[in-house]
Amino acid sequence: MVPPSSNTINLDRARQQRNASQVAPVRESDPLVLSTLRQRLLSVLQSSLDLERVLQLFRQEVDTLVDVPGLAYRNAAEDVVIRLGEEQGHQVHYHLSQGDIRLGELTFYRQERFQDSELSALEYLLGTLLFPLRNAMLYREAQNNALRDALTGVGNRNALDRALVRELELARRTQQPLSLLMLDLDHFKRINDRFGHSVGDDVLRQTARTLSNCLRSMDMIFRFGGEEFCVLLSATGHEAAHIVAERLRAAVEAQSETAGAIPLPVTLSLGLATLRDVESPRCLLLRADRALYQAKAEGRNRSCSLT
Ligand code: GH3
Ligand code: MG
Ligand code: MG
Repeated sequence: MVPPSSNTINLDRARQQRNASQVAPVRESDPLVLSTLRQRLLSVLQSSLDLERVLQLFRQEVDTLVDVPGLAYRNAAEDVVIRLGEEQGHQVHYHLSQGDIRLGELTFYRQERFQDSELSALEYLLGTLLFPLRNAMLYREAQNNALRDALTGVGNRNALDRALVRELELARRTQQPLSLLMLDLDHFKRINDRFGHSVGDDVLRQTARTLSNCLRSMDMIFRFGGEEFCVLLSATGHEAAHIVAERLRAAVEAQSETAGAIPLPVTLSLGLATLRDVESPRCLLLRADRALYQAKAEGRNRSCSLT
């Protein structure tokens, strides 16, 4: 099967570093072997939708014809970097795209420089990777969307449930602390009632941005539901979590949201719980929730924890 003409592999052979002292023996590719391998790739690459697996299969099959000890796939737009094997001295670099859709960049690494016949074979075989790569990227995007809150872009409840199980297990295994914050916007109903639901939505979006900007990249933020958020702070004990809670509270209080020219005062209350030795995700959530209710009861725009 010949790939559609819209599939392109832009070569960047200039990146291949020349080193005449390290020349691999030339292996001319037998056209029959090449076409058989291509047919095989077309079927093998359909066996998975997992991006890393697709790349592994591609490398494994191609390696039977062209020695490829290292391969790296990068897709900056999708924030993906996958490395297989070792990065070595010589590299050849391909930009992959299908029609207008950019599919990232693939780099092959090796100690010895690639021969022209090997590059021709690689380029011929790369055509088989485009559709499987695109499908794997779409699948990855669908999976990410299923875990993301549509309004604010942060993790949704489903993502929180998964992260809780994973992080509790990790905290126990590594003997690291783990803290959880439950956050609830104060008197949010008044904003909806006074300015309308869409202004309320803007406030939720802006608040999620403000919170995300205050967190480390390893922290995780989720929309728990309505005007409630949840933050998981890995490797963070009780005292440090209190400092984070106060930073988040102050940042939201300082955020200058307006409805037209009217300033919208937004504050939030926070409940904090730090994981105990023997505790379920549900119990941890419940303790943070109780602490949140206490923060509300004590006058809002504050953080609390229960001992
Ligand atoms: P408290 O300080 O006690 O938390 O008061 P509150 O008004 O924030 O709490 P309450 O539970 O009375 O009201 C929450 C409001 O949040 C009511 C609901 O309409 C609003 N809300 C929930 N989800 C959304 C949403 O997605 N968009 C908007 N605009 N409003 C939402
Ligand atoms: Mg609420
Ligand atoms: Mg509220």
